[in-house]
Amino acid sequence: MSRAGNMMNTKTRTHKMLIDLEMLNRLNSEGCAACGGKFTLGETVVAANGSWEGGRRFIHEREAAFDTVTASYFEKSCCEPSLTDSSG
Ligand SMILES: [Zn+2]
Repeated sequence: MSRAGNMMNTKTRTHKMLIDLEMLNRLNSEGCAACGGKFTLGETVVAANGSWEGGRRFIHEREAAFDTVTASYFEKSCCEPSLTDSSG
């Protein structure tokens, strides 16, 4: 599976990537912004918007949903309705 660098089409660009060693070291210094857990090598992460500040951050793919309108990921638990029963 080889993918040539495709810089032309920024519209359809996804924010999904696999964790490599460099990413692992960088991201695990803070952990996952969504669940607070650590990442492991080869995991799929996405750059998503969420309840945190400072724009997109990498979180586990399973914790993100893709918004086709903005063509970007967002944190599920941030926008999921009726999941929390108390506001803190
Ligand atoms: Zn996570």
